[in-house]
Amino acid sequence: MAKQPSVAVVGAGMGGLAAAATLRAVGADVQVYEQARQFARIGAGIQMLPNSSRVLRGIGVLDTLRRTAFEPYSHLNRVWDTGEIKRELPMPESLYGAPFLCMHRGDLHDALHSVLPPEIVHRGKKLVGLDGAGGPVTLSFADGTTARADAVVGADGVHSLVREIVVGPDKPIHKGRIAYRAVFDSALMNGEIRPSRTKWWGVDRHIVIYYTRADRSELYFVTSVPEPADWITAESWSAKGDVRELRAAYEGFHPEVRMVLEACPDCHKWAILEREPLPTWSDSRVVLLGDACHPMTPYMAQGAAQSIEDAAVLARALEAVAFDDIEGAFRVYEATRKPRTSRIQAISSANTWMSGGEEDTSWLYGYDALTAPLADARQPAAAE
Ligand SMILES: Cc1cc2nc3c(=O)[nH]c(=O)nc-3n(C[C@H](O)[C@H](O)[C@H](O)COP(=O)(O)OP(=O)(O)OC[C@H]3O[C@@H](n4cnc5c(N)ncnc54)[C@H](O)[C@@H]3O)c2cc1C
Repeated sequence: MAKQPSVAVVGAGMGGLAAAATLRAVGADVQVYEQARQFARIGAGIQMLPNSSRVLRGIGVLDTLRRTAFEPYSHLNRVWDTGEIKRELPMPESLYGAPFLCMHRGDLHDALHSVLPPEIVHRGKKLVGLDGAGGPVTLSFADGTTARADAVVGADGVHSLVREIVVGPDKPIHKGRIAYRAVFDSALMNGEIRPSRTKWWGVDRHIVIYYTRADRSELYFVTSVPEPADWITAESWSAKGDVRELRAAYEGFHPEVRMVLEACPDCHKWAILEREPLPTWSDSRVVLLGDACHPMTPYMAQGAAQSIEDAAVLARALEAVAFDDIEGAFRVYEATRKPRTSRIQAISSANTWMSGGEEDTSWLYGYDALTAPLADARQPAAAE
């Protein structure tokens, strides 16, 4: 392609912002279209395991994140009441050549946003339609405006409209589980927690707890409990939870868990949604990325991480053909990514990751999306 290729990214979540950064780095003229008028600082933590922090280093935001993020000693899994250790994996940076960091979700979003020129991120642009057969694509927005691009990346999350356009309408799967979550001042707590990311495994529920700041001043937890969720909407990020119900749901848990829940002033709740792997990720010059194509339960802490890996591989696939064969590059991207994300979706859905034993973790945390071989899209995708 002689002129600079233009790429429209729909959605300015973690995946969309990461893709904007990696696509710019390989020479694309990128514009990002986000429906929200403002970026709200969602009260939640996020774990970046080495497989995604390696890509964040490539994007140039790792040093910024390190200044504030908490680096846990280990990936720790304990029995809900006795506290017995089911599995502990110390995770120094030397283990997989990149750090394991826990942080506030807003800090990760801010860091990814900060490497993009502000004028390319357009807010208040809710995509309502796409049009284009084999050539450049026209995007239509709810405000009546349009834009045109050589290629479109649908990074519009679990309720993706772009996915609906590419694959057809279909509801995400909700298995009747919700996640309570809260971020709060750790000084409210009457004591300290271990300097690890700890998952407490109960019989039909769990809770994950960690600090989100290097100085341990902020604490986060996220749960998974059975609860019918008829309140689910596309905007479920702001739904409030009842902290008394939450404490009751964790009655009898270990004193460390009880201490955290007693200190928690307030909480939110999320519906846990997933999908089966999709039959295809692209149609002509439109391709999906992140939760739009492989939403997964949060149990392996890999949803955003996989969208960040996607961003690295998508840019490499387009760079490899110098943007001359966009549709072919999309097939290479899908063939490279799908075996891995489908495997992670399946393990995450079963909620068995590191619950005990000594299963290999290197295929997940040691993966390097910046250098992993690109698949041959003419061959059937091999399972990882
Ligand atoms: C409880 C819980 C805990 C989690 N913890 C972790 C963790 O520790 N580590 C991890 O890696 N992952 C974690 N995840 C997963 C992670 O949050 C998601 O996988 C990640 O946010 C997906 O990023 P995305 O960019 O694909 O989608 P999103 O972050 O959902 O972003 C989509 C964006 O698209 C915009 N959009 C939607 N529709 C339109 C439209 N029509 N037009 C324009 N814009 C639109 C939205 O407003 C939004 O900004 C967790 C998830 C949950 C629920």
